[in-house]
Amino acid sequence: QVSGCADSRCFCQEIWTTIDGFNNNQLFSKLQTLLESDYFRFYKVNLNKACPFWSSSSHCGLNDCAVKPCSPNAVPEGIRSHNKVTEEKEQPVKCEQAENLGAVDISLSKETREALLNWSKHDDEAERFCFVDDEESPDSQYVDLLLNPERFTGYRGPEAWQIWNSIYEENCFKPYTIKRPVLSSLFHSSPGSESNTFYSWLEGQCVEKRAFYRLISGLHSSINIHLSARYLLEDSWFQKKWGHNVSDFRQRFDSELTYGEGPKRLRNLYFLFLIELRALAKALPFFQQPSFRLFTGRPEEDRRHKELLLHILQLARSFPLAFDETSLFAGDEKEAAKLKEDIRLAFLNISRIMDCVGCFKCRLWGKLQAGHTLVTQGLGTSLRILFSERQIEALPTSNVQRPSFQLSRQEVVSLLNTFGRVSTSIRELRVCYQEPNYRGPHY
Ligand code: FAD
Repeated sequence: QVSGCADSRCFCQEIWTTIDGFNNNQLFSKLQTLLESDYFRFYKVNLNKACPFWSSSSHCGLNDCAVKPCSPNAVPEGIRSHNKVTEEKEQPVKCEQAENLGAVDISLSKETREALLNWSKHDDEAERFCFVDDEESPDSQYVDLLLNPERFTGYRGPEAWQIWNSIYEENCFKPYTIKRPVLSSLFHSSPGSESNTFYSWLEGQCVEKRAFYRLISGLHSSINIHLSARYLLEDSWFQKKWGHNVSDFRQRFDSELTYGEGPKRLRNLYFLFLIELRALAKALPFFQQPSFRLFTGRPEEDRRHKELLLHILQLARSFPLAFDETSLFAGDEKEAAKLKEDIRLAFLNISRIMDCVGCFKCRLWGKLQAGHTLVTQGLGTSLRILFSERQIEALPTSNVQRPSFQLSRQEVVSLLNTFGRVSTSIRELRVCYQEPNYRGPHY
């Protein structure tokens, strides 16, 4: 449900026109400036985790899949030393303990964390996931996101399909398992076939499960828009040229070429945008705390970037169309708890599937956006914020009181970068709107 929309189907045309205007004219450039800052461009990730589901020997071998490493000196001293202090001070958090810690930032001191143990029992979002965290792993490395933009890599075919299949087939609450040959016909849907069966099944699902499917589908759209918008147009021995490939875009999103599926997928992108925007708006009190600071080691720059961040969050607050998350998990308490658990497990599985993505560049962005480790990443962080209203409202006004809600740097960086991806995707649609045959997501 989106408040402010008169249409009973809720995703009326006004909504995406309003989102386009807001995103493209007010938000996009400010967000880009923020994401280019040192605090937000360096992301620590373990790209070498083994796939826990099947043997994925292939590492794709495509040049454009490689992730350019960054030298340790490129990472600002403030960020490095913050992490170093954390690593030296803290013993690896045991699984059981970590589960109990819930919302507590693992960079806090042992005493503070223990003091928070009781508190976290009451947290709605204390159900964090437990497996070895990327940020803490010795195999993790810093990656400069600006040096490794999300764009066309050539990763496709059965391997990429296997990932998407597993995500939708096993983790989007499908009531039946479809054998692979049938599944592939579902993916290349034709009118009146499996696809319609899928949508009528989806409509019969509760609002939460539909919402979850739409978030994942929106993420899928965003990834595919990026690769169409930054397609490898020329690949000669002396240069590579990247740019828009509108025909690739149309193959994926045009209503006629996709038997009506494409526009639905674009609408899911807008849905994802609204959810993430809402999460940012709700997180404002956390970022407004004087104790929250960026720490590159260059105080003046950090102060300016914190101001810019707050300005962006204020903008998010001012956006008139708010996603109403109170409509989710609102029914019977027991059922709501079961649903939350189902969704949590589905999310956990999807994040583990990201370790099976054979193309490292795709894996990097997949993990950043949909990863969910001891500290949640991108989309997971948005959901955590959405359902932590009580804790955010209870944030202390002084540094002496214990905090009721925490986000680690890793979570902040992935939250903002994930939103940056979706914002960029929506902006890229402008180019397609100029196509005579493209009629937007409302068809
Ligand atoms: P796919 O995108 O592989 O989709 C498979 C099927 O899913 C489609 O046939 C369709 O029926 C259905 N589908 C498609 N879109 C949606 C949607 N939005 N919602 C619901 N169902 C949908 N490639 C790159 O070049 N660069 C990248 O950075 C990149 N990152 C990736 C990250 C991940 C995690 C994964 C799994 C893949 C990534 N890829 C990337 C590959 C890319 O997403 C496609 O898989 C590839 O381009 C092949 O596209 P396709 O047309 O076969 O359909």
